[in-house]
Amino acid sequence: MTLTPSHLIEYLYCPRFTYFEYVLRVPQYEADNYQVMRGRALHDDRLEQNKNYLRRRLGVVDKQLDQYLTNDLLRGRVDEVLKLADGTWAPLDYKFAEWKDTVYETYRTQLYCYAWLIEDNLGGEVKRGFIVYTRSRNKMVEVPVARANIDDVKRVAAAVLDIISRNVYPKATRYKSRCVTCTYRKICTQ
Ligand code: SF4
Repeated sequence: MTLTPSHLIEYLYCPRFTYFEYVLRVPQYEADNYQVMRGRALHDDRLEQNKNYLRRRLGVVDKQLDQYLTNDLLRGRVDEVLKLADGTWAPLDYKFAEWKDTVYETYRTQLYCYAWLIEDNLGGEVKRGFIVYTRSRNKMVEVPVARANIDDVKRVAAAVLDIISRNVYPKATRYKSRCVTCTYRKICTQ
């Protein structure tokens, strides 16, 4: 079994999500407040023109579009894998979202996952990623990617797989406020 970045994001929201959803197989019926918006509004002509402009601005020397990448633990589809002038790779992800002055943890986690997949599949190094907020006039935000970030998502992936493969009932999230509106609050021991 391989995981998607969403598996990791769910676990980071609360490890018990992993247990309820993938061990007990209780589906979530309510709106997912953690879910990554793929926002594939990519048929917008203005956005298409903007993509070339953004790549020029970044000094992209090579690009691979819409890449489905896998490794032993993870799988994911990256909107763009860019080779930069310094020889490093960078994932770029389009979000059908507005820029709200901060890059959400979920988006960061997704980029770190992509960084891991890119390094495993293409070799070389990833030191940064980019998010384009298509609802804020295609604002592009750079997100640094440190070795520790990639190591963290590797650890999280191992933890998720451990819960699923050994049917472990994990610890609850430290953030009790998340329990208030949680889909699973009626069956969770909290
Ligand atoms: S009720 Fe709280 S501890 Fe239980 S799954 Fe939901 S967020 Fe996690």
